[in-house]
Order: sequence, then C-alpha cells, then structure tokens
Amino acid sequence: MEIFTIPHEGRHILYFPFRNAVFAGNAALVNLARRAQQGQASAVRQLRDMLGDKLWIDDPRETALRSRALPEPFRPTSISLLLTDDCTLRCRYCYADGGKSRQAISWDTVAGVIDVIFANAAAIGCEDVAVNFHGGDVGAVWPLFVRTRGYMRDKEKSLGIRAATSVGTNGVLDDAQRLWLTENIDSATLSVDGPPAIHDSARAFPDGSPSSNFVLKTMQHFDRVKFPYGIRSTVTGENVSRMDECVGYICANSAAKRIQMEPMYPQGRAANGNVSPPSARAFIDNFRTARKVASSFGRRLCYSGARLDVLTNVFCRACGDSCVVTPSGDITSCYEVADAANPLAGVFFYGRYDPKTRTFVLDRDRRERLFGLSVLEKPECSDCFCKWHCAGDCPAKALLSERAEIDNLPDRCLINRELTRDQLVAALGVAAEVDSSILGTAVSPR
Ligand code: SF4
Ligand code: SF4
Ligand code: SF4
Repeated sequence: MEIFTIPHEGRHILYFPFRNAVFAGNAALVNLARRAQQGQASAVRQLRDMLGDKLWIDDPRETALRSRALPEPFRPTSISLLLTDDCTLRCRYCYADGGKSRQAISWDTVAGVIDVIFANAAAIGCEDVAVNFHGGDVGAVWPLFVRTRGYMRDKEKSLGIRAATSVGTNGVLDDAQRLWLTENIDSATLSVDGPPAIHDSARAFPDGSPSSNFVLKTMQHFDRVKFPYGIRSTVTGENVSRMDECVGYICANSAAKRIQMEPMYPQGRAANGNVSPPSARAFIDNFRTARKVASSFGRRLCYSGARLDVLTNVFCRACGDSCVVTPSGDITSCYEVADAANPLAGVFFYGRYDPKTRTFVLDRDRRERLFGLSVLEKPECSDCFCKWHCAGDCPAKALLSERAEIDNLPDRCLINRELTRDQLVAALGVAAEVDSSILGTAVSPR
C-alpha cells in the first residue's frame, strides 16, 4: 500500500491516495506507517487496528493506473481543431505567438478530419463525437468556424451521431457572433485576466487598443443566456500581487463557477523578455488569498497542477491520448506545440491528415514515446505525494525545463505540492469538525 507522509505545522499528514483517506498524526504514527509499508506484519496489524479495515480494501483503480498500453487501432472520435494560428489579439505573453503567422487550415482538411471522426464513431457504435476549437482564435476566421459547425450539423443529422462542441476564445466578438456562439457551441473557456487595467496591459489588439470592453460584453451575454463557460487567467510577475483583485473583479462581473489561474510560462511571444513569469512563492501566496475571495463569492479557484479530486497517471491527454489537428494538417498531442518550428514538435507531432487518402497517417514510434510521458516513467516523482494527481506535471513545460534553455522558469513542482497540500489540509479540517479523534480521522478528499 502506498502511504505518503507530509510534514505540516509540527505534525504529519498521512495520505493514502488509493484509499481516499487522509489522517493527521504524530511522529510515532509516521514511524508505524513506514514500518507497515516495509511489510512488517506487526506494524500492519497495529496500523489496521488504529485506522480501520476500510483502508485494506483494494481499489481497482490502483492496478489500472500502474500500467499503460497503447490503444490499437487508433480511432479518435474526439479532436481539437486549430482552425488558424491567426488571432484578433496580440497578447504579450502568448505561448503561440498568435497572429505572427496568419495561416488558416484548408477546407479539405477540416471536412476530411470531421469525416474521419464521424466514421470512427459509426464504426465502433459510439453515439457522440467531440470537437474542441482552439487557437489562434476563432474570431480571426469566423466564416470558417461557422462553416465547420454547419458541416458537423449535417453529419449529425445524416448519421444520428451527436457532436459535443467547445471553444477556447479570447472573447473579442460582436453581438451577432456572441449570439451565434451560444446557440451553436456547447461550452467555452474564456480568457480574462482581471480588471481592465490589468487585462488590457497584456491582452491588447495589434494596434495596442484595449480588449476588455469586448470581453466584458461577452461575459454579460454568456450570463444572460446562461451559457456554460469557465474563465482562464494568466498570472504574470506584474499582476501576481493583484490576484485577489482579479478574482474579485471576475466574480463581480461573471457568473462562471470555475476560475482557473495559471502562471505565465516564458515561451512563444513571452520568451522575448517583455513580460516575466511570477515567482513560484509569489504565485502560491497570492493564490491562497485569491482563493478566499473566490470562496466568498461561492466560486472555485483552480490551478491545473493541484487536483486532489483526480486520480491519474498522466497530467493531460498530450501523453498519447489526444488528437489535435493543426492549421497545416499535422497531428500533435499538445495544443501548445502546434507549429513544426516549435522545439518540441519532434516530441508531440505524431502524424498528419493526408487529403489524398482522406486518412490519418501516423508515426507509431512517436505515439509510443508519447505514451511514455506518464508519471510511471518519472522516477523523480516516485516519492511525491502529488504523484497520482499532478502525475509528473505538464509534459511540454517539464521538457522545456529539462532542456534548461529558458531562464526564469517558475518552480511548478513547488506550486503543485503547496497547493495540493492545501487541499489535503482542507480535507482534514472538514474532518476535524465532525470527529476529533486523537489521530485525526479518515476523510474523503474526493
Ligand atoms: S494568447 Fe490567445 S488570444 Fe492572446 S494572442 Fe495568443 S492566441 Fe490570441
Ligand atoms: S502538455 Fe502541457 S501545454 Fe500541452 S496540452 Fe498538456 S498541459 Fe497543455
Ligand atoms: S509535483 Fe513535481 S515531483 Fe510531484 S508529481 Fe508533480 S512533477 Fe512529480
């Protein structure tokens, strides 16, 4: 059984990830847990008597997560479609350098990949396909976006297969576009950084003019029609000390239940030195303050690397499970690595759509290597209590860090551990209110 011990305020947290249980204990309990983990029968008996039999019931997820196998044949029914790398904005920290190239995907490729996923669904008897539209931004190729959705509707009708659609957008839309989006797309992630002064300092139009007014109107429209959406904010070294203000502004102007804040990463346009990431320490401290603000509005503030509610062996679907079609028709598993010139293209690009054969042509070796980007292949994560939640962190950012070509990287492990520990402590706090046993008590963090 895997038990992690985490020092906390002079005591220890004992965490059993596959038993959904967390305890507060003293040094003697930690010692006992270590001996039990080494297989000492008397320690196991004693621990079992103290913590309860429930902890010794096997969780089938544990076996499933301890291995990974490449699924064959590869028949995706879910894709991300990057219609363009053009964008209506020129955000200072853009990882994609959106708008630098203005390439749009060809119609043959759009129609072809949609045909493929619907055909895959029909072949395996699946009633749904899923398409996520990502950027650049759909606002830069609006007629193509509308045409693509129309093509999917025709396929839905003719095949009786439903398409679930989502979009990541900067929210720079006019009234007609807002209305169309909420009537034709199922959900969205909207990028908003905070009050106009903060948002506009990073997220401006090519001529430098502000975008916040457009985004505010988009939020208002989404709320008016009760459209499901979440908010994503990027935190820089400049705005990190104002995260609480940013969350307060978002909560006061949007009904989105989920707000995700991520530290900026110095890549793409952000690598030119015009904007810096926050330090890990500053991000953690200010996230904690901002989280309280979100709670006071009944909202949830999230960060991708802290997720006690998820048990997994991969950080994201880029580890071989996702299918992202780029504007040039290549297939990548990471939507942040969408350009053949990206230094990580050799890792994440694993095929392309071939318009002649109207099929995906795949590189099996690359797919196998992508499957290896799981926490199972990361010995440096083996003793980390976040192992089955963070699962080795964002593979793209971890690989960039390993290459050490970028200075000034935020220490994501520190952020992931501190904010995950907060979630464990919160779980214990809830338990303490209902049970004040000497050792703390088992609770369900999920
Ligand atoms: S961050 Fe998004 S909205 Fe901003 S320039 Fe890049 S692609 Fe466009
Ligand atoms: S590898 Fe990182 S950047 Fe790429 S999709 Fe996954 S989380 Fe996003
Ligand atoms: S926090 Fe760091 S060490 Fe821990 S699982 Fe994540 S990447 Fe690995």
